[in-house]
Amino acid sequence: MALIAPPSAAVSSRPDWRVFLLLPLLHFASVKLTMSLALSPENEVVVWLPNAVLLAALLHWQGARGGWMAALVLASDIYANIPAFPPLQATLVSLCNLSEVAFTYLLMRRLGVSPGLERIHDFGRFLLAGPLLGSLGASLLAGVVLLTLDRVSAPYSTLTLLWWFGDALGLLIYTPLLLAFLRPDPEGARGGPAGIAMVGLTLAFAALLFTQPVNAGAAFHVALTPHLLLLPLLWVAVRCGTRCTALTVALIALGAAWSVTTGHQPFGAASPHDTILRAQEYILTLSIIGMGLSILLREQRALAQDLEDKVRERTVELEASNRRLAELSATDSLTGIANRRRFDETMEAEWARARRSGEPLALCLLDVDLFKPYNDHYGHLAGDDCLRLVAEVINAHVRRASDLVARYGGEEFAFIIPGVDADGALATAHAVCAALQARGQPHVRSPFGVLTASIGVAVMVPTDDDTPDQLVRLADQALYEAKRAGRNRVVQVASEDVETLRAVHRR
Ligand code: GH3
Ligand code: MG
Ligand code: MG
Repeated sequence: MALIAPPSAAVSSRPDWRVFLLLPLLHFASVKLTMSLALSPENEVVVWLPNAVLLAALLHWQGARGGWMAALVLASDIYANIPAFPPLQATLVSLCNLSEVAFTYLLMRRLGVSPGLERIHDFGRFLLAGPLLGSLGASLLAGVVLLTLDRVSAPYSTLTLLWWFGDALGLLIYTPLLLAFLRPDPEGARGGPAGIAMVGLTLAFAALLFTQPVNAGAAFHVALTPHLLLLPLLWVAVRCGTRCTALTVALIALGAAWSVTTGHQPFGAASPHDTILRAQEYILTLSIIGMGLSILLREQRALAQDLEDKVRERTVELEASNRRLAELSATDSLTGIANRRRFDETMEAEWARARRSGEPLALCLLDVDLFKPYNDHYGHLAGDDCLRLVAEVINAHVRRASDLVARYGGEEFAFIIPGVDADGALATAHAVCAALQARGQPHVRSPFGVLTASIGVAVMVPTDDDTPDQLVRLADQALYEAKRAGRNRVVQVASEDVETLRAVHRR
């Protein structure tokens, strides 16, 4: 199942040269984006996006060429840090970032997280490995670096908390987004135009909320706080795919970050530091609820689809075995031709058809001559072979799609030939009789020296008063005549017999 394949089954191809070109560029662009949208005048970062770039790449390509990717991203990180720090600090700070990503990736692998965060428990483990532990660990290291080398005046706890929250939120909103765009999205068209409209409206509403100077506004006595965006976001999570939801979450988060770092106060009046904390709390809630719900629903849909596929598969198998069973229940196991049951059904159907169309229906009953002596002389198994031979000979001459050759019982066979007149039926019966004799199956206890058969032929154009039994009775009568007349021959009932039988039947 593509959507919820186990981690080992979702191996992506190895990254090619374009990845190595784009990776540092995307990382560097993410640094610039963070600087311009999420850095406050007090140098506090609301969300730090760049670490998610390497993490998403490692997850997507499952660590293939991970060393090279890490080296390129580290170089880009140091280069981006140079304007803010001396070279040694820049390198150490970048190494903190790298350790955060490496730790998160290795822990996620150890926890067996699927590379595309396809299941809700993958998302939960990602939260634990990345935003919670990975970012916290890196923040503890980075706090030491900043305090000892950069001589920052802020307390250690403040430094670590700032780093932790910013990095955690960056991983949280940016990693699922990048993964959603890196991996094929089987639900890409979910939501349709209504989904796109809703995303547009949500973002427009977000723009309205995040550009108001201070959130003091109320419309119709409802406070216009950014938390209202949760409602349309939930709609997007339910109706649109994960990709759409991840994009909406990221854009709202970046909008909130931009808003609080540019002097707006969408979360109410507070100090700049508290405003940033409120924004971070908001982004945390928004992304966990939005992405969590979207991933959960996708997993449920995949499971439902999986179940549907299995039911469909089983139904097809069941239908096939039913067909096979029906076939078997209508087949004679010794000769492989139709059995008595199929003969009776076909007889009824052809009788009704002939009555409607006014066409004649011919029935031939064949009985192997002196078969008891054959069995006695050659044995029962040889007798069985003979019955197969007789079936084969009849099949070779009665071949139209509408004809039916059946084992009527014991060493008697029947063939129904719809739509032929008496001459046609007689010719076919003669051909069968002659062909069997020509096969030359030795039969020392027969006056003919070979296996032969007698055939009784009856043809009727059914009327409303007739029944199929009448035709069988006539054919049986003709067969009896053939036996009486010396066997190895074909006898057809005379037309006056048909009329006599009808008269008897009417009385
Ligand atoms: P007739 O020419 O008058 O038809 O003589 P017959 O010996 O063929 O007639 P009878 O009805 O006395 O014998 C039919 C024999 O067919 C008896 C039975 O052992 C044999 N028979 C019926 N079904 C099978 C079968 O499935 N396999 C074998 N080997 N023999 C069968
Ligand atoms: Mg018989
Ligand atoms: Mg017989």
